[in-house]
Amino acid sequence: MNIVVIGIGLIGGSFAKDIKKLNPRSEIIGIDKSESHLDEALALGLIDAKGDYGSLALADMVFVSIPVNALMQELPKILDAAGDETVVVDAGSTKSLICQAVANHPKRRNYMACHPIAGTEFSGPSAAIEGLYEGKTNIICEVEKTAFKLQERALAVFQEMGMRIRYMNPEAHDKHIAYVSHLSHISSFMLGKTVIEKEKNERDIFDMAGSGFESTVRLAKSSPDMWTPIFEQNKDNVVETLEEYIQNLITFKKLIEDNDFERVHQEMSNTNKIKQILKGIPLTKK
Ligand code: NAP
Repeated sequence: MNIVVIGIGLIGGSFAKDIKKLNPRSEIIGIDKSESHLDEALALGLIDAKGDYGSLALADMVFVSIPVNALMQELPKILDAAGDETVVVDAGSTKSLICQAVANHPKRRNYMACHPIAGTEFSGPSAAIEGLYEGKTNIICEVEKTAFKLQERALAVFQEMGMRIRYMNPEAHDKHIAYVSHLSHISSFMLGKTVIEKEKNERDIFDMAGSGFESTVRLAKSSPDMWTPIFEQNKDNVVETLEEYIQNLITFKKLIEDNDFERVHQEMSNTNKIKQILKGIPLTKK
């Protein structure tokens, strides 16, 4: 297979690692706006060579893993440059606006809209992890708009990587992902902000921060360059989830103020059912 990865960071680099492991004879060409990331990707052996959009015409598969605002701009140009038999797959964390951006593109049949639900809070080629996608879910949107032969080629790659496939429309994807991913990141960022603002002496934070704080605030290490455009593109859903979350925080605060600790206990006890819900969702490898 002749593969091009555009955006050779955590997501693209992890994809490249798995391709190399599964098909050592595949040639992987990397394209990135960061020259230093391309050099790093070459040094790490994630890619075999640097390329440009001229490399797309002969590719069997193009994997696009750049921030979602860049995806809106670049995807139409990538499809322009892709060959008739090339399948272009993206990994963007939002789907509605990206699908709309190429809805009327003459090569829409070459594009498969994907969101692999896998990742960490780290960025760049050095963050790439072998086996990141194993046992994880890949959400595919509007699959009927992708040429059948090209769907099959991309699905075979994801299945070889051990991914589960779920089909969804872009609007349902964006609504559901706002709860389980976008809200989690905002709550982690704002928890980090609240603690930093209160504890100006960072040594105290470090001394007292147990694993509970560390695991809850982990996502606050994530890249603002990646997350700002996600919140922008999924603004309406994100605002809706935030309203529900803020209401829950206000209610919980009021219960404590009112000394209603029976209901405080009940609220937490009801939420303990998250244990059952999360059972079976594999943890991310590091
Ligand atoms: P990343 O580690 O920052 O890698 C993105 C790479 O793309 C960087 O090297 C970046 O360079 C480069 N880039 C930015 N704009 C570009 C452009 N116009 N053309 C070419 N290269 C460009 O980010 P990531 O975590 O891999 O995320 C990539 C995509 O996957 C995003 O769409 C994200 O929403 C999605 N995703 C992320 C996760 C996650 O947990 N991280 C999970 C699932 C999906 P610079 O650093 O110089 O900007």
